[in-house]
Amino acid sequence: MISISSRVASGSIEVLDASDPSDIRLALRPDPGGVFLGWYHFRLSGARGRACRFSLVNASDALTARLANREDYEHCWQNTGPVASHDGETWFRIPGTFDGSAFVFEHTPAHDICHYAAWAPYGAEREQRFVARAQTSPLVSLETIGLSLEGRPIDMLTIGTAAPGRRKCWIIARQHPSETQGGYFLEGVVDRVLDAADPTARALLDVAVLYVVPNVNPDGSANGLTRTNIAGVNLNREWNGPSPEHSPEVHHVRTRMEAIGVDFCIDCHADNELRCNFIWPSENVPSWRPQRRAVFEAFERAWAAASPDYEPGHPYPGGCPPEADLGMAWNWIGNRFPQALSVLLEQPFKDVTRLPMPETGWSPERAYRFGRSFPEALRAAVGRLEPHGRG
Ligand SMILES: [Zn+2]
Repeated sequence: MISISSRVASGSIEVLDASDPSDIRLALRPDPGGVFLGWYHFRLSGARGRACRFSLVNASDALTARLANREDYEHCWQNTGPVASHDGETWFRIPGTFDGSAFVFEHTPAHDICHYAAWAPYGAEREQRFVARAQTSPLVSLETIGLSLEGRPIDMLTIGTAAPGRRKCWIIARQHPSETQGGYFLEGVVDRVLDAADPTARALLDVAVLYVVPNVNPDGSANGLTRTNIAGVNLNREWNGPSPEHSPEVHHVRTRMEAIGVDFCIDCHADNELRCNFIWPSENVPSWRPQRRAVFEAFERAWAAASPDYEPGHPYPGGCPPEADLGMAWNWIGNRFPQALSVLLEQPFKDVTRLPMPETGWSPERAYRFGRSFPEALRAAVGRLEPHGRG
């Protein structure tokens, strides 16, 4: 007998019918509020050596919440497939097809247990191990800046020591819980910065302090949600007026930013339609100053030099909205702190077009190494920011 369970880290799926391995029918579970869906992670057991065929029967529902002007882009179910893992650590890619309503994939598990997911999950246990390990560095202090709606801690790592003239550089991740790429990316960033023998890390911490919030939406992660918190709120539309009842997570991060200040911020996301890494400055906010462009370009040149996985020149997907939505973190931060460079990062779910790896697609290992390259780019940006209080 085969069995399917979503009671795994960040698990999510509804089982409609799993009685026949050749026709396993599943449904994506919408976030609270019913607007967003797309994330899934489940465990199959008892099917070793048996050809299984899975249908996510309501996959087309995920297309109703596409971002504006994306009609010319391939959507999230095209030219990709789920990731699978027998050990929960190493994830490989299997092909999938979209038939207009369902997303279908076939796989014959080599072992008794096999996991399937939209992208490699990044569970709470891994996150807690990472934070606990980081806090033991003499360079790090940890502060729980508040609790989520369900009472989970929102942690902030401070790396380095504040001093006059040192830039305050923020890295925040995982407002959207299905975008687990941010978790692996952050591990790469932090591991590199905490390497006492790494000259880039030492030089960076001479001129900057890092404030790292690894998970802005821990309830969403724990509950296997796609885009919202447990109240059904898309946190990345709440920055202009977070409410303690519906979006305390954003309120806590914003409050610390106001108290500490911001010279640089990168908000880590992932986009399931892209085939590349993408960054963009918050250049449409009312307080944007053209001098920021040169800082951004130095940042992007340095990142491209540090990692072939950042390829400059990709346009904003669907065109940059002419009016900035100040409910989005990168825009709100860029507007509130006009001397700061505030950047949006989108990693892919699919395989990348440059240096593709069909066996895995864009993977946790690539995201981690991309994170390790980030301090070189940040150092270039920090060196070009204006002194405080000028301009
Ligand atoms: Zn996102």
